[in-house]
Amino acid sequence: MQAFSNAVGQTKPKMQDRAVKEGFQPLKKASTMPTSPRAPPAPPSVDALRIGDLADLRAQDLSKLYTFAEDREEIYISRLREAVAIKGVSAWVENRPKIVEMLEWAKAWAERLGAAEARFVENPKKGEDATLPPLLLITFAAETNLPHDKVRTVCAYGHLDVQPAKKDDGWETNPFELTEIDGRLVGRGASDDKGPALSWLWVVEAHRKLNMKLPVRLKLLYEGMEEFGSEGLPEFVAKEAVPPQPRFNDIKREITLDFKNAGWLSDVDHFVISDNQWLAKKTPCLTYGLRGVAYFEVVVSGPAQDLHSGVYGGSVHEPLNDLIHLLATLRHPPSFNGMHHERIRVPGLLDDVPPVTDDERAKYATLDFDVEQYNREDVTGAQLENATNEKTLMARWRFPTLSIHGIEGAFSDPGAKTVLPRRVSGKFSIRQVPNMTSSRTEALVTSYLESQWAALGSKYALEVKMVHGGPAWVSRCVEINQ
Ligand code: MN
Repeated sequence: MQAFSNAVGQTKPKMQDRAVKEGFQPLKKASTMPTSPRAPPAPPSVDALRIGDLADLRAQDLSKLYTFAEDREEIYISRLREAVAIKGVSAWVENRPKIVEMLEWAKAWAERLGAAEARFVENPKKGEDATLPPLLLITFAAETNLPHDKVRTVCAYGHLDVQPAKKDDGWETNPFELTEIDGRLVGRGASDDKGPALSWLWVVEAHRKLNMKLPVRLKLLYEGMEEFGSEGLPEFVAKEAVPPQPRFNDIKREITLDFKNAGWLSDVDHFVISDNQWLAKKTPCLTYGLRGVAYFEVVVSGPAQDLHSGVYGGSVHEPLNDLIHLLATLRHPPSFNGMHHERIRVPGLLDDVPPVTDDERAKYATLDFDVEQYNREDVTGAQLENATNEKTLMARWRFPTLSIHGIEGAFSDPGAKTVLPRRVSGKFSIRQVPNMTSSRTEALVTSYLESQWAALGSKYALEVKMVHGGPAWVSRCVEINQ
């Protein structure tokens, strides 16, 4: 693969050389490039320098691609079957070599499809954990005549590791053997995330087979530790997101971007996280926001040891009893009515939640979502908080929640142990929406619980801890050329 081996490790900073090397089609000579202005132009923003036009993309007839893909369903399924059989479970340390095998499988495909670059980079945290698999970086060159810095770059992210799966977890079939059940393909990683992640390769393949040009530079970033907390990925992103620097070229009298010290991600215009859920069963879904989470632990510490209720019960205050009273103050009961977020009792918590606009309401009205089907197939057996499509989706997406998850230290085995636990901690979390900050959430929750604790009159010490705080993320979802 000549194009591949040439491009790997290349360090030439010159834009033309780099673009020619990446390209499958020869690029126009410098003389046919747009004429340079006489005087140095005012420096445009990096964004303005980066955005080319999408004329090539618009000119393509995509229906050929769809037909091609439909016709090759069996081929895609057989490849997914191969991938599912590779047991790259990131939580099983002894299986980490299997993740590397899976990444190598994808790398080999990228090379076969003429990637300009397909290489492993060592996991940035490998020094701390030698079993961490590398990250796989793939670039397919754009087949346009645009100069390097005018080509749009789309980067798709996916992960090729999977969660653990065992037959006795309740699988009806071998999780690592792709099986069709009632028209659905069942196998560990089939939808999360091998199917979607690898589809990008098949998109490129379809272009090659149909002799269609790739209108954008396509980068694929595959990791192998997502199901174990994406170890090393934040460090990789921080390092590789260093942007190119605008530089005035004295000879050509124009401003170009210098990619010499820029990171691998620095030319990315559009990022696609190919690891998400679909809203409906048949309509693809563009996820442009995620709620964050603030996770809390409230600890009540009582006597030095557990006590027996028959012997000591009645003579002592009970930590678990007090904790349950406290947790019950977090939300109003169902009889209070209103939506989930309206029953959260922490004062001020909803202050930063933006009101629903008419535009937003109009968007919800057109979504392909059926609350009846959701109830039947997705949350089987659960009682819904709201009966309408709009309220159900808003409660899932654009309003905060407060959910109690568990109590550590409480008796939870089968049988009837009459213990008075000495120390218990309640776990709950708040899903945060845009404009809420973890620090404000922490302050509001802590102060509310401390005041409720004082009002309850418990004789024991309370400790409120926010063990994790992540903000919501929301991105623009309008078409960039508008
Ligand atoms: Mn996933």
